[in-house]
Order: sequence, then C-alpha cells, then structure tokens
Amino acid sequence: MAETALTIDVYVTPLRPYAGSPAQGPGDDPNWSPMSSTLIAGEEEAILVDALTANDQVDALAEWLRGFGKRLTGVYITHGHTDHWGGLARLQEHFPDARGFATAEVVGRAQYEATDERLLAYWNSRFPGELPQTRVVPEVMAEPEFTLGGEVLRVVSVGQGDTEHSTFLHVPSLDAVVGGDIVYNGVHMMMLETDEQKRDAWIASLDAVAALAPKIVVAGHKRVGAPDLPDNIAASQQYLRDFSRVANERDSVEGIVEGMLALHGDRENPHTLWISARGEIAKPVRSPSAADHTDRAGPPGLAPGRAGIGIRPRSHA
Ligand SMILES: [Zn+2]
Repeated sequence: MAETALTIDVYVTPLRPYAGSPAQGPGDDPNWSPMSSTLIAGEEEAILVDALTANDQVDALAEWLRGFGKRLTGVYITHGHTDHWGGLARLQEHFPDARGFATAEVVGRAQYEATDERLLAYWNSRFPGELPQTRVVPEVMAEPEFTLGGEVLRVVSVGQGDTEHSTFLHVPSLDAVVGGDIVYNGVHMMMLETDEQKRDAWIASLDAVAALAPKIVVAGHKRVGAPDLPDNIAASQQYLRDFSRVANERDSVEGIVEGMLALHGDRENPHTLWISARGEIAKPVRSPSAADHTDRAGPPGLAPGRAGIGIRPRSHA
C-alpha cells in the first residue's frame, strides 16, 4: 500500500425485519439485507460512501461517525436505489455540511425514485414511518474525481450492477474499492433488474473492479463482520453465473430458490433470492402465463413486466 494519510472504516447496519412485506414462499422470512456505509477520512475531513435508509439506521451510523471526530463534508452515492441514499436527509440533520453527490445518471434515478408515486409507496410500505418525510437526493458531481486529504478518489461508472448506471469509488492510495451493489459479500444478490445478458454485463463490471487489483473491496450489502476482501469479486461473479444456469434449468420459483440455496445456502437473507426467482419466472419471454399470477414482490417499478425489465429515469424513457 502506498503512503497515504487516508483511513477507511466500514459501518454495517444489520439484517432488518420488514414491517410490511409478505412472505414469498414456504420458509421465506422477509428481511431487508444488511447494508454498508463506508467512511474515508483524512486528518480532519471525511466523506461517506452511501447513506443507508431508515432513520434509526442513520442515527446509529451518526453515533458511530461522531466517534471519529472528523468533519463530514460529503456523501458519495454509488447508485440510485433508495436504500443507499434515502437516509441522506436524516444524516444531514446530524451533519449539516455533508452534501450528497453522485453521477448525473445516479442522480436521475434517485430523483425518479423520490418522485414516482408507486416507488414512494413501495419504499414507505417497506419502512413505514421510518424514512425521512422529505427526501434529499444527491447533487450531480462536476468531475468523476475529487481529493480528500491530498489524495485522489476516482468514481468509476461501470454500468451494470444490481441496477444500471452503477458506479464504484476507487481510492488508489488505499488500494480500496467501495463497490456499492456491484459487489455483494455473504448476502444473496438482487437479480430483479437483470436478465442473463445483464448478468453477463454485471460480471464484466466486476472484472473492471478486479483489474484495479484492490486489496480492500467493500460490498454494498454485506454480512456484519465479513472481511472486505477482494475474493468477494470472484464470489459475486460465481453467484451471477450460478443464478443464470439454475434459472435456465428450473422452471419454478421454488426450483430456482432450491437450486441456489444448494450452492449458496451460507448467504444471508434468502428473501432476496425469493424475489429474484419470482422476477425470473415472471419474465414474459420465458413463460408468458407465469407473469399473470406473479405477486409483485419488489419495488413496483422494478418488477419485470411485459414492457421490459427495470425502470429508467424519465429522461431516459
Ligand atoms: Zn442495495
């Protein structure tokens, strides 16, 4: 590792039971996956990567942050899913100087999630009374790199992760990548916005992380206490390959869940796997009739439907 004045510390909010989500099948226990927020600090100033979601999660994060005694000046947001930036408004009550920032595409998606009625209803149903009433979306960053404590931090827009327009933050002086939801660690991966082709693109995004030969790799969703090691890159790629294969071999939600649990049963929160499997079976190309009796498990705008998979900011529609 190069000489650097920077430090990196990772906060993880644990698996969280849903207030309002139905079980997706026998044995399903609806939970929101554990999530990370990463502190990168210079001598005095610091930034976070991703802001968590619910008020109590953010309050605990703020308490943890205060222990470092740094001035929090920014929060980099890796992608547009509300669970990674929805807590920004609450965080700014604790740290008023901490402005959220992200690429234009990520801000576009965040704005969409902050204003679309169905998506707002989805998030509020999953975290009833637990989200900031008024969302604060990140601002568009002028340049894909910035400095902290005299060191350069680089934003890399790789495209496909568990959503499109995903990015990661590379900190060369720490040999670190903060991967958002491109990398998962010990937690089932969300496939709802992907098909086989997009999963291949996601594998290529992980190759782009690996090409930097990082020694520290922080996943957006990670099990509490799991080490932030680069082997999470290959493990995430293996999960993606396995999901595509199992989904091609099985033709029921239960079959996909069973096949994946046989291979990845050590990962936390199979609820995500249930949602991924339901999304896969609902795809019109694979089974037109299946879509009719699919109980939409994920965010309404994110659920696959006849119009295609995933959603886009309105400007891209
Ligand atoms: Zn996420």
